Amino acid sequence: MKKCPPPEVILEHLYGEIEPGTETADHILKCERCQLEVGKKSQVLEMLDKWEIEPSDLQVSKPPVEVPRVDYKPEKLGEILNIAQLAGYLQIREEDVMSTLGEIPHFTILGKVRFKKTSIDAWIQDREVGPGESRDLERSNIIDLSTFLEKRII
Ligand SMILES: [Zn+2]
Repeated sequence: MKKCPPPEVILEHLYGEIEPGTETADHILKCERCQLEVGKKSQVLEMLDKWEIEPSDLQVSKPPVEVPRVDYKPEKLGEILNIAQLAGYLQIREEDVMSTLGEIPHFTILGKVRFKKTSIDAWIQDREVGPGESRDLERSNIIDLSTFLEKRII
């Protein structure tokens, strides 16, 4: 596979400036690493959009989580899930699965990302918090955003 394009090109892709069907566009669509970048950057762009509207909101809230339109039938899930199935299972969007892939137990086969359902269930159990406890869910996003801002002058 060709070398991964630089971050600027991933951004152009997100802005729809890369013509579909070109070698670069194909690469980005098929490459797991590039998809990870796309996920991360789209999350940051979303935050930036929100920021323009309501700057004070940035550090206190995330954009509302939309329930994905996935044909999700719990009884139909097998032992191995794909990204869409996991998104449905967790009730988050596929982009958010991709952007947090580093935290989710997964494996790849033939360039595809897959999840073992029992590992996901164990991982969920591990993340569960009791009453009165909380986790700093926003921190990673803020760090991500500041790294992004350092690299790109807006
Ligand atoms: Zn790539």
